[in-house]
Amino acid sequence: MRVEWTGTLEGDEVNQIDGKEPLKPPCVAIVVAHPDDETLWCGGLLLSHPEWSTFIVTLCRGEDFDRSARFRQALVSLRATGAMGNLDDGVDQYPLSAKRVQDTILSLLPKWPFDLLLTHAPQGEYTWHRRHGEVSLAMHALWRSGQLQAKALWQFAYEDGGGSYPPRPQSHNTLQLPLTEAIWNRKLQIITEVYGFGATSWEARAASRVEAFNCFTDGGPPNPALEQSLLVNP
Ligand SMILES: [Zn+2]
Repeated sequence: MRVEWTGTLEGDEVNQIDGKEPLKPPCVAIVVAHPDDETLWCGGLLLSHPEWSTFIVTLCRGEDFDRSARFRQALVSLRATGAMGNLDDGVDQYPLSAKRVQDTILSLLPKWPFDLLLTHAPQGEYTWHRRHGEVSLAMHALWRSGQLQAKALWQFAYEDGGGSYPPRPQSHNTLQLPLTEAIWNRKLQIITEVYGFGATSWEARAASRVEAFNCFTDGGPPNPALEQSLLVNP
């Protein structure tokens, strides 16, 4: 089973997903392995852009009652809609086929063109979780083949020195987004209060105050003008 849970928010201020009407632009899709990855690696960016129409997919933990409930709460905090899959997330991290990961992503995302895709880096953001890399490779393959349409793909850009310190933004050739104090506090609040991680947990320490991305545009090198247009508030 691929689609285990789909959350649609209610309320006038939140975009409704009814499968018929595409979201209003900028239309942004975040595809991550686990519930909490969306907040850890790009939560500040999302909180800074409540005007975006954001759809968040996690490929694992859809049948985990506790994590899926927390993810649903996080969607509300991030003013997003989303869906969860249920790919294996066991401690052995046995490899999944590229086709299985790609098919799961396609089954969970709405079939609309997006302005921006956000996802993991092939090497992940820390040392080490196989699913992060698998999701990244699947997203690049789907985007390059045209099965996912988007003007740009940004991958998270963090490193942890081979596990010697909490993840921090990669310093070279990345788009760096410093968060305001207020936005960083809201991001941290999702990690500690919604997901329930302690104030001194690895997750709380990984919730960087500067977010960083490697930016790719369709068929060409990074495009600063497009990046700027996506970041400008209306
Ligand atoms: Zn993860």
